[in-house]
Amino acid sequence: MKYDGRFGEYGGYYVPEVLIPALEELEEAFYRFHQDKGFVAELAQLYQYYAGRPSPLYHAKRFSEHVGFSVYLKREDLLHGGAHKINNGLGQALLAKYMGKTKLIAETGAGQHGLATAMVGALFGMETKIFMGVTDIERQSVNVHKMKLCGAEVVPVEGGTGTLKDAINDALRYWTANVTDTFYLFGSAAGPHPYPTIVRHFQSCIGIEARQQCLDQVGRLPDLVVACVGGGSNAIGMFAGFLADKTVRLVGVEAGGRGLATGKHAASLSAGKVGILHGAKAYLLQDENGQVLDTESISAGLDYAAVGPEHCHLKDTGRAEYVAAVDDDVLDTFELLTKLEGILPALESTHALAYLVNQKGKLTPGTIAVANLSGRGDKDVGIVERARGEVESRKGKVKRKK
Ligand SMILES: *Cc1c(COP(=O)(O)O)cnc(C)c1O
Repeated sequence: MKYDGRFGEYGGYYVPEVLIPALEELEEAFYRFHQDKGFVAELAQLYQYYAGRPSPLYHAKRFSEHVGFSVYLKREDLLHGGAHKINNGLGQALLAKYMGKTKLIAETGAGQHGLATAMVGALFGMETKIFMGVTDIERQSVNVHKMKLCGAEVVPVEGGTGTLKDAINDALRYWTANVTDTFYLFGSAAGPHPYPTIVRHFQSCIGIEARQQCLDQVGRLPDLVVACVGGGSNAIGMFAGFLADKTVRLVGVEAGGRGLATGKHAASLSAGKVGILHGAKAYLLQDENGQVLDTESISAGLDYAAVGPEHCHLKDTGRAEYVAAVDDDVLDTFELLTKLEGILPALESTHALAYLVNQKGKLTPGTIAVANLSGRGDKDVGIVERARGEVESRKGKVKRKK
């Protein structure tokens, strides 16, 4: 490989020998095309006319009033498919086309990335296979149906717990045997080099736009930029626009689940230890024997035991801070934003907003905060309803005990 794909000590490509040629070919193609005039122009057209970029930067005045400082939402929820995932899907599918590949594969957990891949597979007329754990297939039947409507094949993965990490393992295995005509469209800024660099590049439109929009609308840079962190793609795309602006605080918010002390969460940066998963060195939720732990969160899209390597480096260097938001606060904030602004945020994105709600009274009224609204919450209405039932009955039990 030409580059080592390291962010400090993190990242790299810890993969079986047989996968190296595939990653080398991908690295070579990415660096050849990503600044190529024709490629850039074609992707810009797709971003504008297919995905709906640029997404607005919206001053959420009533939400701002509630928290006591100004909050601007980067509306990735308004894009085609309802989330930022389409940015990466279009970028990598176009790269596949330029490489002469005719087939796409992808992994998916909650189904959001699988759906984005199925959509671009249809758009580019490419045969598409989505690897998905059997547990997730059962939990996410609506997305499974949508993928099939787009013409994709959903490949059930039986191994392990039948969730995202098992789907990634199988997709990597399949790719090894089919690399000649198949492009692996990876879903987050994680995995082996060059994926963290590729995904960051295709998501950096979020931060580049938000920075300029903030200058145009507010007249200065924000004090604070916040995004939720699963694998880390929407956050790194947002942070990319502001990394060089040393006055801008960057905060990533992980899934605190039932609370870090309960062990039922998905906060790799806040509570993980350095290890290797899916070909990269990163903070990882593992037991004392190095076994990857099961994660838990109300938002399926943040349920990943590891995190992208660049975030690990940003944490160690102190350029970005990482915190966790717990499920109960996320539920409250979901309802709060909906009531105050008429916007249903994805439960993933709501983690970033829950952090802002917790800053109430701690930041001066002149503070300007930009939060990435990575997706829309229509998909989560049923989950919120069920969780509310559970939370109410849990509270009820406590009361009865007294
Ligand atoms: C998938 C998803 C995420 C988490 O993935 P990242 O790679 O961390 O961005 C966050 N928000 C939404 C809406 C998603 O669909």
